[in-house]
Amino acid sequence: MRTVADQLASVLAVVRPLAPIELGILDAHGCVLTEDVVAPAPLPGFDNSAMDGYAVRTADLTDIPVILPVVGDVAAGPASPLRVQPGLCVRIMTGAMMPAGADAVVPVEWTDGGVAKVRIDQRPDPGAYIRRAGEDVALGEVVLTAGTHLGAAQLGLAAAVGRSRVVVRPRPRVVVLSTGSELVEPGDPIGPGQIRDSNSFALTAAAVEAGAIGYRVGIVPDDPRRLADTLEDQLVRADVIVTSGGVSVGAYDVVKEVLSRLGTVRFDKVAMQPGMPQGFGTIGPDAIPVFGLPGNPVSSLVSFEMFVRPAIRTMLGAEPIERPRVQALADEPLTSSLGKRSFLRVHLGVREGAYRVTPVSGAGSHLLAGMSRANALAVVPEDVVRIEAGQPVEVIVLERRGS
Ligand code: AMP
Ligand code: MG
Repeated sequence: MRTVADQLASVLAVVRPLAPIELGILDAHGCVLTEDVVAPAPLPGFDNSAMDGYAVRTADLTDIPVILPVVGDVAAGPASPLRVQPGLCVRIMTGAMMPAGADAVVPVEWTDGGVAKVRIDQRPDPGAYIRRAGEDVALGEVVLTAGTHLGAAQLGLAAAVGRSRVVVRPRPRVVVLSTGSELVEPGDPIGPGQIRDSNSFALTAAAVEAGAIGYRVGIVPDDPRRLADTLEDQLVRADVIVTSGGVSVGAYDVVKEVLSRLGTVRFDKVAMQPGMPQGFGTIGPDAIPVFGLPGNPVSSLVSFEMFVRPAIRTMLGAEPIERPRVQALADEPLTSSLGKRSFLRVHLGVREGAYRVTPVSGAGSHLLAGMSRANALAVVPEDVVRIEAGQPVEVIVLERRGS
């Protein structure tokens, strides 16, 4: 049997970051930049008001309160031709360009709000409430460096410096199909002995959560021809193919049969629980990575976590490729079989200043409801069969999108 680390190493030896492409900035959301983004102009681009109020010359405000004539309005948008002469002021809105001659803004709250003339009750310091050109970003500054992960604030900054498109590593396209002649679509009538295809939904969602574009193909029956044809059709749009089912030693385990002759895919027993049978390799002229995951719902999801997710993250160019891990204390004893690395479904919380884990499911690979209650996987190493209550255990944190 291979170790989990060996299997992951085989995967990472094959997958490469995808070649960069130029995308519109919203399409690049969640991607990793491969260029530096430089500001072609300073930010702010001009001195402007930080408040709604009055642009004044502070030299006119030595005796407070004072009443000044208001010679005009300046709003955000058009540059104002107004110049503030001694003894006068201009009403100004937030973001409007400072008129020449003024050296501060008096917030409207410090005044009577007058339109033709205004009474000013408080004196601002020179320079007050003016946002200076370039105080956020200097002309020519690198605002985002290659390698930056584009979240909301980074996209906003790219737009603010005038970029509508950026060069990034694209999201890998992950094609997901379920094999099994017993499978039925949710929503369709179900007969005796049939089960719902849940894996293709869970795995497509997991791919999207990892940062990929997920294409759910759905159900392919245990028929070698149908499977081979489907794989061939899907290759054109795939950066990764993920199958579930058909990789153990049953008589109808067609994935093993078909993938073994299509490319470099090999099938191994990996010393893990759940998820022992694993297929991985490449197929097609472009050597597309293919993961043949086991069919049991929890096995397929845990296998995805261990092997597919790091591959997707590598293709994205995202760091780190692995989920965060923490040390937690076991609230109850945790058990595992000797020689296998166990990934136990647990709930991770904090109590008395320490991370704690409680099992939320039995070990059966079909116990999907237990998996749905877990927010973490406790990792029990190969040579450990029992972790006592109160003892530390390493935990993989499964943060989910939207939670
Ligand atoms: P297999 O690896 O094909 O032998 O499948 C192992 C177990 O997982 C069997 O009980 C299957 O019925 C179940 N299974 C296989 N594929 C799926 C799927 N797409 N959704 C839910 N359960 C599945
Ligand atoms: Mg099957």
